[in-house]
Amino acid sequence: SVVVVGSANMDLVVATPTLPRPGETVLGQDFTTVPGGKGANQAVAAARAGARCHFLGAVGLDAFGDELKGCLAAAGVELDGLRRVAGPSGVALIAVDAAAENLIVVAPGANAQLTELDPVDRELIANCDVLLCQLEIPLETVAQAAAAARAGQTVFILNAAPARALSDELLALVDVLVVNQTEAAVLAGLDGGREVARADNVPELLSNLLAAVPRVVLTLGAAGAAYADREGTRLEVGAPPVAAVDTTAAGDAFTGALAVAWAQGRPIEEALRWACAAGAACAQHWGASTSLPLQADIDALYER
Ligand code: ADP
Repeated sequence: SVVVVGSANMDLVVATPTLPRPGETVLGQDFTTVPGGKGANQAVAAARAGARCHFLGAVGLDAFGDELKGCLAAAGVELDGLRRVAGPSGVALIAVDAAAENLIVVAPGANAQLTELDPVDRELIANCDVLLCQLEIPLETVAQAAAAARAGQTVFILNAAPARALSDELLALVDVLVVNQTEAAVLAGLDGGREVARADNVPELLSNLLAAVPRVVLTLGAAGAAYADREGTRLEVGAPPVAAVDTTAAGDAFTGALAVAWAQGRPIEEALRWACAAGAACAQHWGASTSLPLQADIDALYER
């Protein structure tokens, strides 16, 4: 089983022909609200990909909180770790242009109140195969979850998104780091004040990050993903070619599926290819949590 400790946000989404520059106003198309947040998305992704998945997070007592809870429940996510707190739920303001490129601002709301894990939470983490975290909740909480995972021999997969500086103490608890090229460049550059690595230099990014963590998965958009570990394994797999409509949650689909494959003990190359199929399947459809693929959708692209 997988446990996600992370954020839940209501995504407020507008499609627009072009993204606005600072100070510019553009006229968009239809407005939609879609349950999202990297944590909730990855929990839904893992559940839809076929795993038993628990979500440990916080939403407000507002209507968005009700909707977020309902969406997680509908996907089959276990909600024993969900807290309802005073104040607004987290929201994300998202614009998506005709080329499927996006622009996002997050207001954390209730997610900022996820500051303390209790003994029941630690036991839940210790009893799962994989702990999956992102960086949209307080880093102290991620560190507490990581320590509980280490104590319980649960594999800790960290999706270091959105990119933030991380302490050596936290990085030392990471078993598998999952990043896109932008996040990798930021993390590699922040590591020990070294020169910022070029985002398009995959081997250099992987080598840089292996100094901090034992295994790295680097997502490469339509090109797929690369993997490296300290034992010397290096892999690169392509994503199945698809007509991309909206890549908003592709990284979440990829990471959720990777956590599931890891919990199932699948070989790394197979896990990477399956996660790429999940990301590609997600990019084919409009929306965030609504476009996260089911196990059968992933398998269909994986076998193609
Ligand atoms: P993020 O969305 O976090 O920036 P990426 O853009 O690297 O991450 O996408 C994550 C994964 O989703 C990729 O590794 C790939 O498997 C899949 N993916 C993303 N965009 C496409 C695309 N245009 N075609 C096929 N697969 C894609």
